[in-house]
Amino acid sequence: MAGIYLHIPFCRKACHYCNFHFSTSFQTREEVIQAMQKEISLQKEYLGKQTIESIYFGGGTPSALPPADLTTLLETIRTNFEVDSKAEVTLEANPDDITPENLEAWKTSGINRLSIGIQAFQVKLLVDWNRSHNAKQASTAIALAQESGFENITADLIYGAPNLSDEDWKINIRQLVETGIPHISCYALTVEPATALAYQIKKGVTREPDDEQANRQYSILQSALKGAGFLQYEVSNFAKPGFESRHNKNYWTGAHYLGIGPAAHSFNGVSRQWNIANNVKYVRALYQNEIPFEQEELTPAQQYNELVMTGLRSSMGIDPGQVAALGEDFEKYLQKEIQSCVEQGKIGQDEKGNWVLHPEFYFFADGIAAELFKVD
Ligand code: SF4
Repeated sequence: MAGIYLHIPFCRKACHYCNFHFSTSFQTREEVIQAMQKEISLQKEYLGKQTIESIYFGGGTPSALPPADLTTLLETIRTNFEVDSKAEVTLEANPDDITPENLEAWKTSGINRLSIGIQAFQVKLLVDWNRSHNAKQASTAIALAQESGFENITADLIYGAPNLSDEDWKINIRQLVETGIPHISCYALTVEPATALAYQIKKGVTREPDDEQANRQYSILQSALKGAGFLQYEVSNFAKPGFESRHNKNYWTGAHYLGIGPAAHSFNGVSRQWNIANNVKYVRALYQNEIPFEQEELTPAQQYNELVMTGLRSSMGIDPGQVAALGEDFEKYLQKEIQSCVEQGKIGQDEKGNWVLHPEFYFFADGIAAELFKVD
């Protein structure tokens, strides 16, 4: 099982909370796409002979590209890699890009899953966050995608924003559930350094998100989606049976993936590498047939910490066999450190013997995982 992630580093507008790598100028678009094609062919050995089961267009806003660019990139991947005929091919799409023409072109190119960045249905929130879509587009995007034949659709929502009331939050969840889509992802608003949101908070224009409110809205979410038949398979992800994202699961289970494009990350089981987060420097290097990346070999302690973090965040839990494979020390360390969480009722063992965090503690998953970390 292996995947390819393509980072498309362009957005129409800069959302106030976002710290991903992107440019709002599309001037270098053609050069970046050509450089990404070059990178795909230079990296054709990166995943060995593994078959590709997931291709994911993220960013940035991949739906803002002309569909022909996406087709070109997919064709280049198919020329250089063995792609499973049933591979999951996901496109992150903003509601303002969802038009009958784009949907048809995406389907023809082989995209079979859409991840729609709704975030909220309230105009005041979309304006506050500087989203490129409006409330009407948020409401109609999913129906348009469904009418054109897309079934495998996920949508994102944001909770914990100071001006998102519990009532509006319930409306947002209900509105998504009523569309009948089989997958929903929800993220707490976080204040990343060097974003417009961080600046607004510093200047007193906006309030800081409140943890208690975020926790309360997270509980509302968990119970609403459970009641609607969704399985929570990760802290932020909910799916109807059979619609868990392969892209997500690959990442959490340590499958290998190749990242293409500026700022994209790759992992081949031994090392992690990440491309330069600069469109012009990325293009220049690829002109010279060089991939501009930095790399780190994961130490056993880092591998153990990743197993703990991804395991506790997902319903699959921590596999003691994988921990034992890192060495007896790690097995003993986990056994000892996990006991207090077990006694406090936060963590238990499932029928496979994996250590799983009880969903009522998911909101605190990162903090609980950190308590079990091992330092080198
Ligand atoms: S569209 Fe997505 S990637 Fe682009 S600025 Fe907004 S949140 Fe960030």
